[in-house]
Parts: sequence; structure tokens; C-alpha cells
Amino acid sequence: MVPAYKSCDVGLDRSLIGAYGQDDRVCAYPALTAIMNIKEPEKTAVAILADKEEIGSDGNTGLNSDFLLHIIGDLARMQEGQVSIALRNSKCLSADVNAATDPTFQDVVERKNAAYLNYGVVVTKYTGSRGKAGTSDASAEYVAEIRNMLDNAGIVWQTAELGKVDAGGGGTVAMFVANLGIDVVDLGVPVLSMHAPFEVTSKFDVYMCYKAMYEFMK
Ligand SMILES: [Zn+2]
Repeated sequence: MVPAYKSCDVGLDRSLIGAYGQDDRVCAYPALTAIMNIKEPEKTAVAILADKEEIGSDGNTGLNSDFLLHIIGDLARMQEGQVSIALRNSKCLSADVNAATDPTFQDVVERKNAAYLNYGVVVTKYTGSRGKAGTSDASAEYVAEIRNMLDNAGIVWQTAELGKVDAGGGGTVAMFVANLGIDVVDLGVPVLSMHAPFEVTSKFDVYMCYKAMYEFMK
């Protein structure tokens, strides 16, 4: 059973979106609209909308399966390329949310390494629990590349951890992509009250997420 109410504007200036289930649709939607709006990408662009992330990405529709490997293999073979070379030369943004700082519940974040609503799209170098257990820690070089891309395109962005060590934590699909040898970093929208029946995001952050996805895929 899921809440049946519709999404609504939140805030005096209506700058926020209140709705159920924004994690991770609020990242999937910008990724999908970005790839739809790209006419001729320089390189092959793919948007994978995967199921089962919240239960650990297990099962044949989750990213902890071989389907992404096979899709890239098929794409490579169609162009008479090798899958291993295609994987090594692939780059990925793992579109997932981070927890926005709640002013009434600040003890679960480290304030200088936390995301804030309306501060732009959030780049999460690593997730994990008990520090960095069960995650992909993106390389400094790849993070620099994404940082430059965002800066050059005038996209407003921030970085954050997924909560304070031993207070927060969590995972995304990034590690399953990284295990294929693909450069990957998490990028998405900060969400207030993540996983609650009523999650809140900022329209500005969602738009910046769209711009980042577009810039990346074009
Ligand atoms: Zn989630």
C-alpha cells in the first residue's frame, strides 16, 4: 500500500515539491528527459532505469545482476567492438538522492559534509555504512572531471556524505556499476525526509539535476 495523494507545492515561495516516492524517481525523471532531449550524442548514451534499488538491487531486474553487462556487450558487438574495451571506456552517473539536512534533526549529519535543499545537484563521492563499507568510492580524477563539467556548464552543485559516520549511511547502485570497471559517481537531488511517506525536494535542485544529466549525456 502506498499513499494515494498527489504531489503538491511546499513553502511560502512554492519552491519545494512534496510527494510520496520521490526517491529515486526525482533522479530517474531528469535522466530520462535529458536523454530524450539529446539529438545526436557525441558518444553512445544510455539511461538505465533499474528496479529493486531499495532492497539491495538483487534479482534479475536489479543492477546487482548481469543485465547491464549484457546490454553493453550487445551494444559493443553491434559495432564490432569488444565488451571489455567498451566497459573500460564507459562513464556513468549513478542517479540517486542524498539526504537533505533537516534543521530539526541535525545530529545525524556532519554539517560541513551534508546536503541542503536549494543548494543544487548533489555529488556523492561515496556512500556506505560504518564509513565506506559496501560502496564505490569514486576516483579523485573522475570526480574532478564531473566537477569541471558542472562548473563549465554553470550548474549549481554541492557535495555531501550520506549522513554522519555511524549515524547515517546507505547505498546506491554505483558499486554494481563500478564492479564492471566503469567510472561512476553518484549525482542526484537532496531529499528531505527521505523514505518517509511525504518526501520534500527543491524544484531548483531537480532542474540542476536535469542540466547535469543533459550535459553529461550530450
Ligand atoms: Zn532510497
